[in-house]
Amino acid sequence: MAIRKAEEMTWTEMDGLDREETVCLLPLGPLEEHGPHLPLGTDLLTAEGMVEMAAELLEKEDPASIYLLLPRLWVGHSEGAMHFCGTLSVGTATLKALVTDLCIALTRHGFRKVLLVNHHMDLFHIRALLQAAEEVNRSYATRVVEASSAIFFTGKETAGEREPQGSLHGHEETEIHADVRETSFMLHRHPQLVHPCYRELPPVRIRIAEELQQGHIYFDEMGAAEGYMGSPAQATAALGAAHLEAGARAIADLARRLVRNEDIVQIGPHMERVLRHLPG
Ligand SMILES: [Zn+2]
Repeated sequence: MAIRKAEEMTWTEMDGLDREETVCLLPLGPLEEHGPHLPLGTDLLTAEGMVEMAAELLEKEDPASIYLLLPRLWVGHSEGAMHFCGTLSVGTATLKALVTDLCIALTRHGFRKVLLVNHHMDLFHIRALLQAAEEVNRSYATRVVEASSAIFFTGKETAGEREPQGSLHGHEETEIHADVRETSFMLHRHPQLVHPCYRELPPVRIRIAEELQQGHIYFDEMGAAEGYMGSPAQATAALGAAHLEAGARAIADLARRLVRNEDIVQIGPHMERVLRHLPG
């Protein structure tokens, strides 16, 4: 059995796992508003859905390795969405300390390969996760990898590799939050949680880099009056299935590389510069 759920195991079962062959998968993200049509747990449900599908793919291909699923951690930094009820953002220092401590605890039991599976693309949130990973890796010779930056921020990816072909109709840059992608994913995986009003929502096109440059940090200040950025009305369950599969394949690829001790590019030079120049 290649997939194990930590919350369902005894300590002796977990102690029996081959540390070299085990990758710990930790899905995490904040409770955060996702427009009038998606639930607060959208990022968490998406990260968890991708992890579960990635684990299924891996189990088929490589039953000898062990993928230890940790329970999803509903913690993240999301100051931009704090003007909307239900968003529970924690400070970046808290997030970094919590993830650092959990990774160190795993290390103390000999587990040294950890994939942080995150579907919340707030740059401050991602920087905190990368800093936690870097600190633990430096001090404990572990391999903690943050998945979203390794998938999207290395500079080597192309839209065609990571997105179902032509699916976003040339609007990749303005499909940002509670958008066509996230709505499609939820229609595919949790249709009962999608409010039918998504079909009537007009597109909201926001260039987030320009908004941040103008000092706007809150979504409503940027023009997202209802909390979404993009075109949720274009969502389909089929696009969600393709999005899930693309994400799961990318996560499975990272997990496989961790098992085999292969190199992983965590982040490209451009995004490294962007994150370095974020305030705070
Ligand atoms: Zn989201």
